[in-house]
Amino acid sequence: MSKLWPQLEAQRIVQRFPHTSPYLLETGFGPSGHPHMGTVGEVVRTHYVALALAELGKESRLLVYSDDMDGLRKIPVNIDAPWLEEHLGKPVSAIPDPYGCCPSYSAHMNGELLAMLDDTGIPYEFVSATAEYKKGTFNQVLQLALVRCQQILNVILPTLRPENRPGWFPIMPICENCGQVNTTKVLGYDAEQATVQYSCSEGLKGAVGCGYCGSQSIGDGRSKFGWKADWGARWAVLGINYEMYGKDLIESAKLSKQIAKILGGSAPVDMFYEMFLDESGRKISKSVGKGLTVENFTRWGTPEALNYMMFKNPRQQKKLSSETVLQYMDEAVKLTEADPEYKYIYFAGSRPQVPIVYSDLINIVSAVGVTDPEVLREFIGEVYGPEVQENWGYVKTLLAPALNYYADFILPQRQFPVLSPEENLLLDAFLALIRRETEAEALQTGVYDIARENAISPKDFFRLLYQVLLGKPSGPRIGSFVQQMGADRISGLIEKHRK
Ligand SMILES: [Zn+2]
Ligand SMILES: [Zn+2]
Repeated sequence: MSKLWPQLEAQRIVQRFPHTSPYLLETGFGPSGHPHMGTVGEVVRTHYVALALAELGKESRLLVYSDDMDGLRKIPVNIDAPWLEEHLGKPVSAIPDPYGCCPSYSAHMNGELLAMLDDTGIPYEFVSATAEYKKGTFNQVLQLALVRCQQILNVILPTLRPENRPGWFPIMPICENCGQVNTTKVLGYDAEQATVQYSCSEGLKGAVGCGYCGSQSIGDGRSKFGWKADWGARWAVLGINYEMYGKDLIESAKLSKQIAKILGGSAPVDMFYEMFLDESGRKISKSVGKGLTVENFTRWGTPEALNYMMFKNPRQQKKLSSETVLQYMDEAVKLTEADPEYKYIYFAGSRPQVPIVYSDLINIVSAVGVTDPEVLREFIGEVYGPEVQENWGYVKTLLAPALNYYADFILPQRQFPVLSPEENLLLDAFLALIRRETEAEALQTGVYDIARENAISPKDFFRLLYQVLLGKPSGPRIGSFVQQMGADRISGLIEKHRK
């Protein structure tokens, strides 16, 4: 059997680092905005690699690393706090929480991420860049970066636009006068003393340097690695063996591997994945906060559907929309323990098999227009049999998001047509058909026959049926739907909307 992608990744890790244990798998998080599904998805995917390593008898630890020493570059549009303007350029861990509930801006965002990750049940270790810098974890490698400064410059400078080259330095001191990090410029350094001379003289977006000039030691949180050097330095310091990242970071990853080696570490095994797109095909951006977030997704989909979406070929672009949620939900529910993906998708625990999928539930709710779970339980049990009744606890976990789906996407567009005399005749013929036939295939063929006999296109006839039965222009295969629901219920629905 061909290997699944996490298994291939695990194999690459073991080949590259045959004697390492446990393996360190990393995912990064930028807490300058609210966490979004990209971050959680990356953790889920990395966990898949951890599971595949475990299959090989290898131990691993999953580190979730928050870049909370990074300076705030702009106020995210979904945060209504104009006063943040005066904090632009400071590390996000040194800025007050815009919501007032946590010790800092980044503490709030980190907290949101951890809450989302805890819901997944994935074992992980949270690492705060600020905490590590302050603890001195980076001290030695910061000093090494000064010693090997020229080597680093040789790698990075050619990748910068000529006008940006003179100001670039691998280390960014935090101004001891104003606390900003994005506005400092290194003027000189002493590698032996591990100090830098700097001026707080730069302007970046809304951040303006305070004009201070000074010299300070770079350790214990008084400086951080600058852009382009940061990632590689982290790999070297923490000894990371594996990291995946979005396609937009391919070039950064290449540079970071070189930096990691210069700083005495080794390059991890890495993999890039395609980005998620919103409904209109645009990239879902964390700073704009557009598109579905994980919180949004789990309003309409189970965590397992999210896992499933993350499992599907990461190299394929995926759109997120009400349609995708439906598709992934159905496919995830249909998986059985015989499917090789099953144990990845259902890592948090297995679940019973039921003869009903998510879109069936949505169709039933749309058809009967009832949202009371107890009424639906009886109805669904009658239509789908005792397995549904026996596993109602599980079916309910599918029904809850299905009811949200109905409320958000179906109900607002639900429209039952006013019928013309011709349409009423078509429906009479349909009612006669469902009295006569009970099998899905015969019912389906019968619908085509009626359309032909009445010289209307089958497409228009199907649309009429969906509109009358479900209040929307499309739906499940009519033959199967009628067979499942039974002629009595279907004719009841038609009569209800004919009145
Ligand atoms: Zn807070
Ligand atoms: Zn300053």
